[in-house]
Amino acid sequence: MSCPICSKPTQTAHRPFCSKRCADVDLARWLGGGYAIPSTDPDDIEEAIEAAEAERAKPH
Ligand SMILES: [Zn+2]
Repeated sequence: MSCPICSKPTQTAHRPFCSKRCADVDLARWLGGGYAIPSTDPDDIEEAIEAAEAERAKPH
């Protein structure tokens, strides 16, 4: 099985992802709601994660 985010081999500790980073990317996609990740560029993914975490940190 390969990571659904970056297609690297899955690591058991983080399955189905290859790393916590990719797990975070996937989480960011779910939490991001209307926030569309513009590309798979690592910098964009980093920004998307930060945006999602900022969103999550807001009181509801
Ligand atoms: Zn990955």
